[in-house]
Formats: sequence, structure tokens, C-alpha cells
Amino acid sequence: MTDSRARPSSRDGALATVRDRSRRLGPRGWALWSLPRGPLAYILVIELAAVAVIVSALTLGTADHGWTVAGLLFLGAVTHAEAARHIERIRISKVDRPFIDLKSMWTFAALLLTPTGPTLVLVCGTFAYWWVRNGRHHSAPHKWIFSWATVVLGTAAAGLLLPGVEIGTLLPTAAGPLGLVLIAAAAIVRWTVNHGLVVGILLLTSKERSLRRHLSSPADTLLGLGALALGAALAVLAAASPWLVPILLVPVIMLHRGVLVDQFRHAARTDSKTGLANGAAWSEVAAKEIARAARQDVGLAVLMVDLDEFKAVNDRHGHLVGDEVLRAVAASLSAEVRAYDAVGRFGGEEFVVLLSGVDPAAATVTAERLRSRIGDIDVQVPTPIGTLARVQGLTASIGCATCSAGSRSVDELLAAADAALYRAKRAGRNRTVAADPA
Ligand code: GH3
Ligand code: MG
Ligand code: MG
Repeated sequence: MTDSRARPSSRDGALATVRDRSRRLGPRGWALWSLPRGPLAYILVIELAAVAVIVSALTLGTADHGWTVAGLLFLGAVTHAEAARHIERIRISKVDRPFIDLKSMWTFAALLLTPTGPTLVLVCGTFAYWWVRNGRHHSAPHKWIFSWATVVLGTAAAGLLLPGVEIGTLLPTAAGPLGLVLIAAAAIVRWTVNHGLVVGILLLTSKERSLRRHLSSPADTLLGLGALALGAALAVLAAASPWLVPILLVPVIMLHRGVLVDQFRHAARTDSKTGLANGAAWSEVAAKEIARAARQDVGLAVLMVDLDEFKAVNDRHGHLVGDEVLRAVAASLSAEVRAYDAVGRFGGEEFVVLLSGVDPAAATVTAERLRSRIGDIDVQVPTPIGTLARVQGLTASIGCATCSAGSRSVDELLAAADAALYRAKRAGRNRTVAADPA
């Protein structure tokens, strides 16, 4: 299942204090209530719909059986959750995208083995259990409730494809090709509804309007559908030979570890403070872009951006506020360049930007635009003592190095941009200086 528990990979004390305060205030203090009307209505409608679906499944559906199977699947889900808990804590604390929950295999198996009523109660049970054991350390309660609602609706929608499932009746059907089509369709419906509703709220609340940025990566989609496929295998195994189910847990835990490898690979390329590419990852992208510029016979520029007198921001407001400023600068730089221009954090308060297909004049124009955008930044951070630290009027110096048709290596471009940056600082800061031509 996919949910909106996405959170930045590192959080400083000041923001944690805000979260703690909202936790102390209970539901009244949830950030949910400060959302604009549109997103708030979207969330509340989905949550009310989830409650209505559960009530109607329990009152109208054939909910008088399937409870024992749902109970056993709950035990399986709890065993799974406990066995994978250590790995999942690392995974949850690192995600900055919609979170894919592999434990959805148990509720999907329930959908194939029991009527919708017990299945939805199992969804509630697994969410409640995971929240009590782990979730409250990681996520705001209202996000958790929204995630639960999207899973309930996804599951109920998939259940519509499997009407009147009774224990022992679906699986003989599933032995034929019709079973494959039905189960695959149910998995796709469940994934699409669940994921679509999460992407909907991300679109409504984020400044990033591009749908593509919010959709799961192909790897995450495969993971989400893979968990449902495991659920189908689990259902068949549980119906044929329930005592063999624990064997399935071994490859499932292996899958958890495999997912971590992917996450570590991503983390090794990312600057955890700003979410930008780190120096090594940026250099790799830059080398590829230079090779492409050589093939296509176009120009390319590297900008080295250094915040002016940044030490003074730290000295005045503390490093946590300084970090918040660095994040704001990173977001501004990323927003101001094209999607295929690479922005990286080179070191402390230095950023690098690679501009593809530009000549020296266009590179200087972009550099000036970036400086102006940095000047617009207005960061306000609540402090632990209840006041607001405010940082605005930032300036930056930029060194700009260009080359035509891949005539300089990454290191040569960086060295030239660095020398130009040094000249910008020496000339009084708050300016762009172009490097000498190659
Ligand atoms: P200049 O205009 O010459 O660039 O002055 P400056 O103060 O920006 O540059 P200097 O190199 O003297 O100091 C860089 C400062 O950046 C010092 C350090 O505290 C701060 N810094 C580096 N990395 C981080 C970070 O990750 N977080 C925070 N908050 N500050 C950082
Ligand atoms: Mg500086
Ligand atoms: Mg510096």
C-alpha cells in the first residue's frame, strides 16, 4: 500500500518542537486544521467515505463468516510487522516519497479469502497495531488516518471485483485463467485507488504541481504491486496448506532487506540536509551532460553559488535556523532552473548548478535570476521559546564557467567556476562573475 507518510529525511529541533506541541494539544493541534479549505475538504470526504464503506460492508455484506481467517491473517501481519520492525524503522525514517507498505500482502490475502467486512476490519487492525508499535514516533496522526482511509477505499474498490467471495469458493475459480485476470484486476484497482488518492492530496498541498513528481517511481510501483502479488500467493498457500504460511515469511523479510539496499543507494547520492544531489552524484550527472553536450555540439555552464556572510546567520539565529535557510535556498535553486538542469550541494553553504545547452550570455542571465530568487527568500522558523526567527535579504556570489561542445571536463569547469566565485567575493560579494573562457 502507498501512503502519505512521506517526510523530509532530517528534521531539526525547532520543527520537532512544533510537532511536539501539536501532539500535546491533541487533535485540535493537528496541522490538518490549518490546511486550505480545498485539501481539508478532500481529506475529510475521503475519511468519511472510508467510515461509510466499513459500516455498509459490516451491515449489508455477508460478514457473518471469515472472521477466523481474518484473525489468523492478523496474527500473520503482526508476526511480519515484528520480524521486519527493525528494518522498517530505518526505512520509514529515511523516506521522502510516498511510503510503500509491504504488509498490505496480508490484507490483500484477506480480500481473496474473506468477505469485504472482515477484510476492512483487518485493515483497521493492522493500521492500529502498527501505529501503536511504531507510527506515533514517525508521522502526524492525521496523515496516518488519511493513509488508513485511502487503503480502506482501495481495498473496498478491489472488493467490488470479487463479489460474494466465500472461503473456498474463490480459489477453485482462481485455478483457471479467469482467476488470474480477477486477482490481477483487483490488485491493480487496489493500488490505483490507494495511490491515486495519496497523489491527489500531494498535488493539492504541494507547491510542485507536476503530476509526475508525485507519482511513485517505477521501482516503488513494482514494490507495491509485488506486495499484492505476495498476498495472492499467501491466499493460495493459506487455503491449500495453512501450516506452510510461515515459510513465506522468510522471502518476505529478504524483500524488506532488498528494499533497504535501494534506499541506501539513493541516500548515498543525496545530501540529507537539503535533498539535493551530493557532490559525487552531481559530478556523475555533470560528466554525462558534458558528454551529451559534446555529441550534440551545444554549450554548457557550471554555476558555483556561495551564500554571502552565511556564518553571520548561524551566529545570530543558531545552526538549526541556518539549516532551514539552506533548505530554502536548495528549494529555490531547484524551482528556478529547468527539470533537466542538475542542482547539487557542493559543501557547507555552497551549491553547484549545471545548465545544459546554454551559451555564456544565457548562463549569466540565469545566474542573475538565481541571485534575485535567493534575495526573495523569507524563512521564518518557530524557536523553542515560542518566538519566530526570521531570515531575509540573503545575498549570494556566483562564479560561472562555460564551455562549448564538451571542451572542458567537470573538474576544469568546477575549478574555473570556483576561481570566478573567489573573484566575486573579492570584488565585494552579491554578484555574478564569469570565468575566463577556456
Ligand atoms: P563568505 O561571504 O565569505 O562566503 O562568508 P561566509 O560566512 O558565508 O563563509 P565562511 O566560509 O566564512 O563560512 C561558511 C559558514 O557556513 C560557516 C558555517 O557555519 C556555515 N555552514 C556550513 N555548513 C553548514 C550547515 O550544514 N549548516 C549550517 N547551519 N551552517 C553551515
Ligand atoms: Mg559563504
Ligand atoms: Mg563557502
